[in-house]
Amino acid sequence: MTIKKRINKWGPMVIDKLGFILNPIILKFNNENNHLLIYCFHGLYESVAQKDLNHIDPQNNITVSQLIEFIDYFLNLKFIFIKPEDLLGELKKNQTYVMITFDDGYFNNSLAIDVISKFKIPIVFFITTRNVCENKSFWWDVIYKYRSQKQVSLEKIYNELAHLKQFKYPEIEKYLVQNFGTICENPWSDIDRPFNSEELKYISENDYISIGNHTHNHAILTNYSNQEIKEEIEESQKILTELTGSEPITIAFPNGNFNSSVLNITKQAGFRFAFTTKYNINTIPQINNNLITLNRFMAQTNNIQKYGSFNRLNYNGVSLFSNIKHKIISNV
Ligand SMILES: [Zn+2]
Repeated sequence: MTIKKRINKWGPMVIDKLGFILNPIILKFNNENNHLLIYCFHGLYESVAQKDLNHIDPQNNITVSQLIEFIDYFLNLKFIFIKPEDLLGELKKNQTYVMITFDDGYFNNSLAIDVISKFKIPIVFFITTRNVCENKSFWWDVIYKYRSQKQVSLEKIYNELAHLKQFKYPEIEKYLVQNFGTICENPWSDIDRPFNSEELKYISENDYISIGNHTHNHAILTNYSNQEIKEEIEESQKILTELTGSEPITIAFPNGNFNSSVLNITKQAGFRFAFTTKYNINTIPQINNNLITLNRFMAQTNNIQKYGSFNRLNYNGVSLFSNIKHKIISNV
């Protein structure tokens, strides 16, 4: 075995073990005051058995009990859970903060509502409006479920997803229909379906829930022209405002992709906060009239006890604990 192979094999395990011992010591001397950790979640499973049904790409999804462990972890550390609107008011200084966001608009996210109601903590849902309006599964899940039904390897599936991310949604949809047929975007169950309009309207009335924009077509905005970026954002904004009765002040960029044009258009559209997937801690931002971009960590599919201390030290660790040996991609 070459040295490189040895490092690849044992490196993460060593860092994992060392971190488990060293991170709590380092964190004792590390001032976390005014830090805001924001996490990006996707699908939620009632149980591990639901995961095994393969109705959605599992790489970013967790079970309800893992969500509870996540909340417990931060509550025990005296972190305060906040929502974006809280940043516009006065927050106590010398405190530590955490925010939970869910991307895409999966109906299975309604499993989180009982949990947050019990703990009395807020949550943000970023919604892809076309899926909600047309009851369509998310395109990456369509690829995942049809390919895994045919026992295609994970590596091949994820390469296919990565390839498709270069395109705009109409081209991706054309590809889906060509490969899997005209009804391939029909959901298979409550696991892979999006919220519907009535459900979204209903949950938006919950004081613990904020609704944010995630474009109309889950558009990877850096693939689009300026005019198209504007349309993607505005269409979603119009639908969400009509449904919920208030205009979202937050947007999460699909797949985390943005550039200066995307930021300018977002700013002109009047958003206050743009959520990225840059894996960094935020410090509580100074509020001004400009668009404020916020970093997010990816919630991982294992226990928060394993990766929480790494994130609090501003280390991403996404690939560190993954069992998947190929390049990791995330369908944010
Ligand atoms: Zn997304």
